[in-house]
Amino acid sequence: MLNIGLTGGIGSGKSTVDLFFREEGAYIIDFDELAHSVEEPDRPAWTGIVAAFGHSILNENGTINREKLGAIVFSDREKLKKLNEIVHPAVIEEWKRRIAEIQKKDGRAIVISDIPLLFEAGLQSLFDMVILVHISPEEQIRRVMKRNSYNREQAQNRLRAQMPIDKKITLADFVINNEGTLDQTRTIVHEVWQRLREEEQKKGRIIDVPR
Ligand code: ATP
Repeated sequence: MLNIGLTGGIGSGKSTVDLFFREEGAYIIDFDELAHSVEEPDRPAWTGIVAAFGHSILNENGTINREKLGAIVFSDREKLKKLNEIVHPAVIEEWKRRIAEIQKKDGRAIVISDIPLLFEAGLQSLFDMVILVHISPEEQIRRVMKRNSYNREQAQNRLRAQMPIDKKITLADFVINNEGTLDQTRTIVHEVWQRLREEEQKKGRIIDVPR
């Protein structure tokens, strides 16, 4: 098994690249989706959140009201820290469970975990390698404005809340340039996929004394 982290900046094209890796045969784990799943009623993070923030942040059907919770934590750093301390360990536990499940099914799997803030959260040590999806900050702003119908200032604020994408280049093992067309990116993904397969095959190989 090869355990790969995939990251990028906001709007850099992580979901798009996930799709191309899935076409090649990768198993994809999306951390945003994991975070949602551990916050479903009666799951570990849900229980912790309700204990910390009370029942007033719940919808009538018992699910967490993200707007209410967001309004509380985004205006108070301590509360945001508390929320992260509840959610992060639950997400990592769920991730480990899913990795073990894939390993059981397919020992030669290449698993790609899409984590928007991988470097900011210092999660590199969980992975054999990290891939960065890169576009220039200017193109990030253009794509985020278009996708989210933001004005330039809103897009710039979102970018400022993250580590600058060019700094992430120095921390990554592979950098996928997603500045070109989708077809060009698909070709790059295919190339990276070949390298990942080679890496996977090297794992656990014993280097013996030459005879
Ligand atoms: P986020 O983390 O902000 O959700 P992301 O990194 O997953 O974003 P995507 O949602 O894959 O990024 O892409 C951002 C936007 O840019 C989308 O609207 C997508 O369709 C578009 N996009 C992705 N790749 C390209 C490309 N090569 N050319 C043009 N547009 C692209």
